[in-house]
Amino acid sequence: MFDDLRDLYQEVILDHGRKPRNFKRLETPDLSARGDNPMCGDRIELFLDMDGDRIADAAFQGRGCAISTASASLMTETVKGKTAAEARDLAAHFREMAMTGTCPDCGAALEDEMDRLQALSGVHEYPSRVKCATLAWHTLNTALDGGKEASSE
Ligand code: ZN
Repeated sequence: MFDDLRDLYQEVILDHGRKPRNFKRLETPDLSARGDNPMCGDRIELFLDMDGDRIADAAFQGRGCAISTASASLMTETVKGKTAAEARDLAAHFREMAMTGTCPDCGAALEDEMDRLQALSGVHEYPSRVKCATLAWHTLNTALDGGKEASSE
């Protein structure tokens, strides 16, 4: 069972790593930020269109390993339609899951979202890859702060 699950997660990462969703530039984004993970060489640029406090569209470009690309792809899919506060909340929970492998505080409200992001929970076994997985979410927080440059620290 565990091995099957692992294969499934692997498949999700490979799929999103090879064919990232929302991989494009938004022409006139309301918010944008760059993210840089020098440990691995991952770089992304994130674009957000806002509708009031809600994320109407999210897209990214960049170059990086399969994990950073898959994470950015899954992140942009997950935050579309969310408010800024909900997106920040998800970022915090995702960070916890990436570092520990589980997220006991996530609760039922985030179940669907966290299920989708679960594919990346395996990175907690590889500390050097945690930053690859969290880069997109750091960059999201930076964009929502109105900032421009995020590092993976
Ligand atoms: Zn990486």
